[in-house]
Amino acid sequence: MLINGGGPVGTGLAIELGQRGMTVALVERYPNPQPVPKGQNLTQRTMEHFQVWGCEDELRQAHPIPKGGGIGGMTCYRTLLTDHHYDWLNRAQVSDYYACANARLPQYATEAVLRARVAQLDTVDVFYGWQGDAFHQDSESVTLEVSERHSSGSKSPKGSYLVGCDGSKSLIRTQSGISETFSEHDKLMALLVFRSEELDQLLKRYPGKAFYNVLHPDFEGYWQFFGRVDHGLSWFFHAPVPLGTTAENFDFRAMLTRAVGTEFAFEIDYIGFWDLRVAVADTYQAGRVFVAGDAAHSHPPYGGYGINLGFEDARNLGWKLAATLQGWGGPALLESYSKERQPVFASTADEFIENFITEDRAFLANHRPTDEGFAELWQGRNKGADEVMAFEPNYAGSPIIGGQGQP
Ligand SMILES: Cc1cc2nc3c(=O)[nH]c(=O)nc-3n(C[C@H](O)[C@H](O)[C@H](O)COP(=O)(O)OP(=O)(O)OC[C@H]3O[C@@H](n4cnc5c(N)ncnc54)[C@H](O)[C@@H]3O)c2cc1C
Repeated sequence: MLINGGGPVGTGLAIELGQRGMTVALVERYPNPQPVPKGQNLTQRTMEHFQVWGCEDELRQAHPIPKGGGIGGMTCYRTLLTDHHYDWLNRAQVSDYYACANARLPQYATEAVLRARVAQLDTVDVFYGWQGDAFHQDSESVTLEVSERHSSGSKSPKGSYLVGCDGSKSLIRTQSGISETFSEHDKLMALLVFRSEELDQLLKRYPGKAFYNVLHPDFEGYWQFFGRVDHGLSWFFHAPVPLGTTAENFDFRAMLTRAVGTEFAFEIDYIGFWDLRVAVADTYQAGRVFVAGDAAHSHPPYGGYGINLGFEDARNLGWKLAATLQGWGGPALLESYSKERQPVFASTADEFIENFITEDRAFLANHRPTDEGFAELWQGRNKGADEVMAFEPNYAGSPIIGGQGQP
């Protein structure tokens, strides 16, 4: 088995396959996880995967939440320090359905735990500092051409199947000719990572919270989004910025102060940008080649689906590849991966991610705090934490599941 890309999804897949006795070559261009916090909220379902992968305890110990801290979310109107706010994405509402509690930690800490676990598996050979450059497939096998990034080494590992877990600009997806469907928003987003102990003091008024969405009418439903990284000290912040913004030509300090709603002391450590768009591969399979994680689907981090859906891809594909190589899974089993996972992402994108933007935009356009009954309307927006309760990914219509094909 060949896996190109050893981010969270590729490494999770390598563990899944390696634990099932499959021989795996995992190729990852970076020697170490990249130090951007990115996907932090891990759902209860994801934690079940970590339990199966034998590293749930390690994950919980990797970046512990300090005593008195919490991992809840909240939505605020106009500024972080507003009087109008409500609890948001309260995943505790669905905890009874799962064997594990949810967790929250920076993506680089999650990746470090996965890297440590994969290193324990004799079945997996990891090539850090190597990159996939091209592949060729025939009816029996796939060959991946790989080269050392900072040296002249090259190899051509061969396997029965190749999985591209190489992120949203996936070489494997592109070279397979797999097309994507886009929903463009023509929006540039900034990601700041900053340190501020004063912000921690200011937010003591909302105990137990770790991520905060600030809805401002000027942004037409696009979020300004804060999250704790190292509790008490460091934070990330995403917000829409004008097209053409660079790290040099924009006043990020003013933007941050405005979103918080007061002057406060902070140091910016990192400024990055991403395009707000939803992209989904039209199929996740091309012959002996598959895509998983961001290589198959990418979208704004609205609702924390990205890394969690990617891990679910890895679990779904892993046992099917193993079953096929062990001789008890037929071709229809392998084909069911794309048929099950692609619609789950497409519906998540339409019914949740895009819907968040549309609903927030409509509310902000139609209601002002000066309107009579605004406070009740605002509180009414999240009665029952509906978006968490309503998220019911399922494989209705899958070729390997019997029944009526209805959820
Ligand atoms: C700014 C930002 C904020 C985000 N915030 C959230 C969030 O709050 N919640 C959430 O759930 N998700 C969030 N996400 C999304 C989340 O980070 C991704 O869904 C997740 O990283 C997907 O994992 P992956 O392994 O599929 O892809 P990636 O993490 O992109 O990993 C792909 C790996 O492939 C490697 N690679 C690429 N090309 C090659 C090659 N040719 N050869 C070898 N290796 C290669 C890369 O080095 C990388 O390690 C965010 C993403 C960004 C960019």
